[in-house]
Amino acid sequence: MKSPRLLAGLLACIAATAAFAQQQYPNRSVTMLVPYAAGGPTDTVARVVAQAMSKALGQTVVVENKPSAGGILAPEQVKNARADGYTILIHHIGMATTPALYRQLRFNPLTDFDYIGLINDVPMTLIAKPNFPANNFKEFLAYIKANKDKVNYANAGIGAASHLCGMLFMSAIQTEFQTIPYKGTAPAMNDLLGGQVDFMCDQTTNTTSQIKSGKVKVYGVTSKKRVPSLPEIPTLDEQGLKGFEVGIWHGLYGPKGMPKPVLDKLVAALQESVKDEGVKKRFADLGADTFPPDKATPAALQAHLKAEIDKWSPLIKKAGVYAD
Ligand code: ASP
Repeated sequence: MKSPRLLAGLLACIAATAAFAQQQYPNRSVTMLVPYAAGGPTDTVARVVAQAMSKALGQTVVVENKPSAGGILAPEQVKNARADGYTILIHHIGMATTPALYRQLRFNPLTDFDYIGLINDVPMTLIAKPNFPANNFKEFLAYIKANKDKVNYANAGIGAASHLCGMLFMSAIQTEFQTIPYKGTAPAMNDLLGGQVDFMCDQTTNTTSQIKSGKVKVYGVTSKKRVPSLPEIPTLDEQGLKGFEVGIWHGLYGPKGMPKPVLDKLVAALQESVKDEGVKKRFADLGADTFPPDKATPAALQAHLKAEIDKWSPLIKKAGVYAD
């Protein structure tokens, strides 16, 4: 049997090695998991932030897509990853809505993660396939109500922002449509452009270029006020859907239990990124609002997540929507 002194020495040695590793962090690339398909809105935000964080960390932040309908697989993977700062997660409002939507979610947003900080706020847009037979919101409403059994709605699965927006829209106009789920709105957009699906509600980070180049029809933005980068598009509220408002936000997470020096470096890198003029401009061009550095903090993300869970859970439960 080993002597107590030998054991104490060994433990001290292990602790010193761990402390050294934390000081050296990051000495290899960091992986940022994205819960949806490449080329979509969450992926777009991830790539902008990953590039800026790579500069701040002095190591590449590699974006890895782990798409699933509703985006529920990536958080589970990050929950189960080593809490060493080399695997992190970007996610949107789905972190706050999935707990109410899934009876058997295999992660708990409030207890299974360390919070790094908030990134940005993104409005959504109501769009339809290029040849949809309606040229404004009034015509659109009349058409979809008259053809509710024929028209379908694309989304990124239950728990996605596109699902939330669609659910609120259907409830606001008291009409249900068949929904077609994808593993992200990048593939949904492809089918919309190809005319296989009729309409969807998606973030401006995915729809801006299609709207500006006239490749899709657009009927409104979901924010309270018009979006500065798309000033000619009216809000749904101003077109008669009084009080209709959906905005989504992104945050950065890691597995629970990251060492403090590691977490501090991730937070500092995120704060550098949201201060970066290039990042802010890129997001603004895509209709998104970057959070200031004092919101790119664990406390701000935790408080926002909790407030959003408290806001959305009763509404979702009332709507009675469940995945399994
Ligand atoms: N926009 C998608 C959503 O509905 C997610 C994505 O594809 O990034 O949440």
